[in-house]
Amino acid sequence: MKRPIIAGNWKMNKTNAETKEFIAQLRPLVKDAQCEVVCCVPFTNIVTARKAARGSNIQIGAQNVHWAESGAFTGEISAAMLKELKVKYVLTGHSERRQYFGETDQTVNLRTKAALKAGLKVIVCVGETLSQREESKTAEVLTTQTIEALKDITKQELKRVVIAYEPVWAIGTGKTATAQDANDTIKIIRRVIRKLYGRASGTSIRIQYGGSMNPKNASELMSMPLIDGGLIGGASLNAEDFAKVVNY
Ligand code: PEP
Repeated sequence: MKRPIIAGNWKMNKTNAETKEFIAQLRPLVKDAQCEVVCCVPFTNIVTARKAARGSNIQIGAQNVHWAESGAFTGEISAAMLKELKVKYVLTGHSERRQYFGETDQTVNLRTKAALKAGLKVIVCVGETLSQREESKTAEVLTTQTIEALKDITKQELKRVVIAYEPVWAIGTGKTATAQDANDTIKIIRRVIRKLYGRASGTSIRIQYGGSMNPKNASELMSMPLIDGGLIGGASLNAEDFAKVVNY
């Protein structure tokens, strides 16, 4: 049985003081969760979040990682730096990184490979924009994004990869893909993985849905056979809301 994974993406939110308070509030609310619980916090909050989560089932993740081991890359953070802080998961390819920071399929691949090489688990985000969907390019876009992101990643490494299917038009907009639609689109991604790594990997890889997932729609989305979790933005900033999603 695959263990579902619900991850919060805090984006550029919360100070260290707020982080400490949030994790303290969240701990008892999610202690009996059946799924993996992850909070992807800003780099500056990792140490505080980890200390606050010590001894609980809350894992701490980061939101980005650079591919070089070290060097002249102002403003970037390496995988070794994240490992040293005992970060478990890192996001790559979030649509906001692609949209605002020039992330490409190639850099998503470089970041993903570097994180895996360092022993981290990676949540690789893929998703189509509204115009791509309206032009019936969803399958094409997701196929390319998935193939490129996973280039040169071994079947063994793939075991530490989670894919987040996040239709860009549903992120932060309050618009959610219907559960059926999300499930059908995730089927396309599984087909790509199957072609690349074989049938078993296509079935076993965990694929999350992300895009305005919240306490109201979480249980319906999580009841779909091909959805193994959620990547939660807005609703992950409030401990009670996030706990409701986790306890879908
Ligand atoms: C996200 O940023 O990954 C996300 C899904 O955001 P939201 O839940 O706010 O749509």
